[in-house]
Amino acid sequence: MENITNSPEETYLLGKELGSRALPGQVYCLDGDLGVGKTVFTQGFAAGLGIEGPVNSPTFTILQQYEEGRLPLYHFDVYRIADVSEMDEIGYEDCFYGEGVCLIEWSQLVPELLPEQVIRIRIEKDLEQGFDYRKITVEGLEP
Ligand code: ADP
Ligand code: MG
Repeated sequence: MENITNSPEETYLLGKELGSRALPGQVYCLDGDLGVGKTVFTQGFAAGLGIEGPVNSPTFTILQQYEEGRLPLYHFDVYRIADVSEMDEIGYEDCFYGEGVCLIEWSQLVPELLPEQVIRIRIEKDLEQGFDYRKITVEGLEP
C-alpha cells in the first residue's frame, strides 16, 4: 500500500488510521531518514490507539511505553543505540512477543532482532515533489 501525504497533518491522520486498526502482538517497523516524519506518524498512531498524552521521540531512552490506550504501545527509537545488548537490557523481547503493539523507529539498525513477521512502513521524501511531500509505503498489513 502506497500513500502520498503533503503535510504533517496528513501523515498524522494516516498514522491514526493504522493505529485505530492495530492488533495485539503486531510489530511495526518505521524507517526513513532523519526528519522525514516518523515521529509525526507515531503520534497519530498513538492517537489511533486512544493514547491522549504527548508522544515524543524516545531518542535518549530507546523505549517509551504507553499503557493508557486500547492496547499497550511500545515505542522504540533505536537511532542512538550503540550495541544491541542495550535492547536486551530493556527487555525488548517481552515487547516484541507480547500482547501490545510495537513501533520501532530506525528498525533497519537492528535487523537481527526483528521478528519474522513485521509490518514495514517506509517514509520517503522527494524534493522534486515539494518540501512537504512524503511517500509512505506500508507492507505486510492484511487488507
Ligand atoms: P523523524 O521522527 O522521522 O526524524 P519528525 O516526525 O520528528 O521526523 O519530523 C518530521 C518533520 O517534517 C516535522 O517538522 C514535520 O512538520 C515536517 N513535515 C513536513 N511535511 C511532512 C509530511 N508530509 N509528513 C510528516 N512530516 C512532515
Ligand atoms: Mg523521530
